[in-house]
Amino acid sequence: MPDNSEQHQQRMARKKTVVDAAIAKAGRDQGVMLVLTGNGKGKSSSAFGMVARTLGYGLKAGVAQFIKSRRDTGEEKFLGMQPSVQWRVLGDGFTWNTQNRDADTATAQRAWAVAQGFLGDASLHLVVLDELTYLLKYGYLDAQQVCADLAARPPMQHVVITGRAAPQYLLDLADTVSEIQDLKHAFRDGVCAQPGIDL
Ligand code: ATP
Ligand code: MG
Repeated sequence: MPDNSEQHQQRMARKKTVVDAAIAKAGRDQGVMLVLTGNGKGKSSSAFGMVARTLGYGLKAGVAQFIKSRRDTGEEKFLGMQPSVQWRVLGDGFTWNTQNRDADTATAQRAWAVAQGFLGDASLHLVVLDELTYLLKYGYLDAQQVCADLAARPPMQHVVITGRAAPQYLLDLADTVSEIQDLKHAFRDGVCAQPGIDL
């Protein structure tokens, strides 16, 4: 049975008290570290949405893409050409299929050096480390070094890390963690990647 209008008004008033108290308590500004993980669709596109928001405020962003099989995505076509965005594709040269661990580790470390540059640049309001989790999963990067660099970034800089299977130590370090669940994906029903939606 839905509430009558008086019950509804009272319920909403109680809710407003709780929400207002929570808002009043969260008065601090700080750089936030976010991890977007899980098997569902929406991790990288959420990160790019935050890049768009950042640009809306006239602020700068750095995007490092650690694994990428194509350069013709909508996000690179649009965000990559914005003067306030530093867009670096670092996956090129990764030889995931060679099973050459030394070569891949060296490539990953060169890529991380670019990320370190972003994490040391206080003029960047937002840093996106897209698909970083895979480099950690395969042990191509030193976990302690990565955590230390993330922790030492400028205090007001936000950082978003995407990728499946984020390690627990990254979740522990993060301020905001979302795990996107895969309930359904059109691909499994035979729909190929759609421009603007998937790439
Ligand atoms: P997006 O970039 O669309 O936000 P994502 O970052 O969450 O996706 P990735 O694992 O990076 O997911 O995969 C990138 C590509 O694979 C996208 O084209 C996306 O639509 C597709 N994809 C993501 N999750 C699934 C899934 N569960 N099944 C099939 N395809 C998927
Ligand atoms: Mg992704």
